[in-house]
Amino acid sequence: DNFIKLPGNYLFSSIAKKVNAFKSAHPEAALIRLGIGDVTRPLPPASIKAMHRAVDELADAGTFHGYGPEQGYDFLIQAILEHDYRSRGVELRPTEIFVSDGAKSDTGNFGDILGTGNKVAVTDPVYPVYIDSNVMAGRAGELQANGQWNRLTYLPCTAENHFIPSLPQEPVDMIYLCYPNNPTGTTLTKAELQKWVDYALAHKALILYDAAYEAYICESDVPHSIYEIEGAKKCAVEFHSYSKTAGFTGLRCGYTVVPKELVFKSKRGEDVQLNQLWNRRQCTKFNGVPYIIQRAAEAVYSPEGFKQTREDIAYYKENARIIREGLESIGLTVFGGVDAPYIWLKAPEGMTSWELFDLLLEKVNIVSTPGSGFGPSGEGYLRLTSFGSRENTLRAIERIKTLSFK
Ligand code: PLP
Repeated sequence: DNFIKLPGNYLFSSIAKKVNAFKSAHPEAALIRLGIGDVTRPLPPASIKAMHRAVDELADAGTFHGYGPEQGYDFLIQAILEHDYRSRGVELRPTEIFVSDGAKSDTGNFGDILGTGNKVAVTDPVYPVYIDSNVMAGRAGELQANGQWNRLTYLPCTAENHFIPSLPQEPVDMIYLCYPNNPTGTTLTKAELQKWVDYALAHKALILYDAAYEAYICESDVPHSIYEIEGAKKCAVEFHSYSKTAGFTGLRCGYTVVPKELVFKSKRGEDVQLNQLWNRRQCTKFNGVPYIIQRAAEAVYSPEGFKQTREDIAYYKENARIIREGLESIGLTVFGGVDAPYIWLKAPEGMTSWELFDLLLEKVNIVSTPGSGFGPSGEGYLRLTSFGSRENTLRAIERIKTLSFK
């Protein structure tokens, strides 16, 4: 009954329909796709080497690996603790890390251990998985004519509030935050995130913090982890992904941090440790990430792996700079793209997201993503991504510069 409440994924099917119709009518047009959320550069050579070695290990009875620990191999967990946390002054225990097949699964599945009566807050615009997975669990209520679910609390993020959501005006139990943000590419500073942690502690709410784009952060007052914030271990789980950090979109690996300090009341009033519940959930429903893939993830933290992944991220970030500055040079207003691979373009006065999408497709053959597809507050914006090739990114900006938005 909950699943059938979900509307179809109109955003990406509508984009595909429009693009296909355009291609049939103009087979000669050389389309450039700046809408994609997938990486295009190959895996770091250090991970490829590690996988070759791991394959050979599996070929020998003496080094073969079958089922591994559901929570992940210790070699990867130790690398995560050292490089993603200890180096930033955050101490976590090995049993607080759960290696997974990516942040989509874990952000979507984490609700398994949380009450279906909980009130959920999401930022608007938003990564759709947070909403859809709560619809499936029955927490979202009914879809209304304005495109919002009646039991969700929406926290608008627009240019007017500098993409900083206001604290909820009504009591909520679960709060999804994603920084650097998909789709807006904007961030919260440490001081801004502290307000959320303080709010969650005061209201006994759980923050589900998605740090999938953490590797793109370059500004010093932007936290890489919510655990850099005082009190966060008592109110936040954190999701990580190697997808955009190291090109693992097809390999599939990430991890979730569930600190032991996270203790919430059950309906019967008992204190319950989320770490224990998540461990129980994973041991029942998940059989671990392949050994080969975990070796590839471990290699991301080696000196060569680190250098190689930084080079790829720098490549995408240079694309983001080209897009951002190119659009600004013709008087357009853009956000994001500094600590993130996403650029959030404000549509010129009086234009909707889809009108700007159509203009870019028809006049300069560029595919983008209309902001309204990420939620009502995305109306009037467009998402561009920096995951294309340098050549196409440069070409796209030159084409956009030929347009007149007067
Ligand atoms: N979280 C956010 C905010 C994303 O944008 C994405 C991918 O686009 C994911 C999670 C999914 O990451 P993964 O590939 O690790 O499942």
